[in-house]
Amino acid sequence: MGLVEGEATLIGWREVGPGVRHFVFEAPAPLEFLPGQFVSFSGEIGGRKVTRAYSFAAPPAGERFELCLNRVEGGPFSSYLFTLEAGARVPMKAPYGAFTWREPASDSLLIATGTGIAPFLAMLPPRLAKDTVNRYTLLFGARHFLYREELERLARGHENFRLLPTLTRPPAGWTGLTGHVQAHLADLAGSRRDWIVYLCGLKAMVDDVRRILKEWGFDRRQIVYEKYD
Ligand SMILES: Cc1cc2nc3c(=O)[nH]c(=O)nc-3n(C[C@H](O)[C@H](O)[C@H](O)COP(=O)(O)OP(=O)(O)OC[C@H]3O[C@@H](n4cnc5c(N)ncnc54)[C@H](O)[C@@H]3O)c2cc1C
Repeated sequence: MGLVEGEATLIGWREVGPGVRHFVFEAPAPLEFLPGQFVSFSGEIGGRKVTRAYSFAAPPAGERFELCLNRVEGGPFSSYLFTLEAGARVPMKAPYGAFTWREPASDSLLIATGTGIAPFLAMLPPRLAKDTVNRYTLLFGARHFLYREELERLARGHENFRLLPTLTRPPAGWTGLTGHVQAHLADLAGSRRDWIVYLCGLKAMVDDVRRILKEWGFDRRQIVYEKYD
């Protein structure tokens, strides 16, 4: 799997939630990556070179790659990316990262918060297309239900995939889970200690969930994680 280095061209973007955008880019050469990996973007901002990582938010598709990003208040690179329009070029290197499916496949609990959903958007479709045996549960915590249509479609199409969104700002009439992911862990895990758990999001959530799982007796090799900060 070779490293692709050069400039990515922005094809377009769409809003997927307040302050959250889904970007489509084109790499200078076909990009081979394992779902769950990321691209490293760089740029010069205020006279300084800034480099940031972004998880691929869709399975590999030739030169095309997709990202899910939120604009961080006061954050230099995310703010810069939010000013870009189609045709803009961004220096890139990819792929990197080890947040990928562990083999052999097994029943898995996936936990994402906010834009931490990105790698799962790349990982789940190809995995569910070939694995109808193991069970995959996605606990997805966010202010707003990002990618609702795509995720609900995936859940409808695969009975071994269970989607559990938990919202911290639920809309009127919401009957699903609310609050932080941590609040639902005990109910979800019950007495199960055989899962592989995949975690993606900010450090505070990832560290907290890892601590809880370890207290319950999960081995560290059963916990695979990506921290965004
Ligand atoms: C392996 C990896 C993959 C990543 N994938 C993504 C991704 O797919 N989408 C994405 O939006 N970000 C992702 N990030 C975070 C991203 O690299 C940047 O840190 C983020 O865009 C903020 O950059 P900034 O320069 O604007 O602000 P910075 O100055 O770098 O960060 C400012 C603050 O923002 C917080 N922060 C960082 N990322 C986020 C976030 N996503 N949401 C809320 N707060 C955040 C940090 O805690 C930090 O304190 C990833 C990070 C890593 C290490």
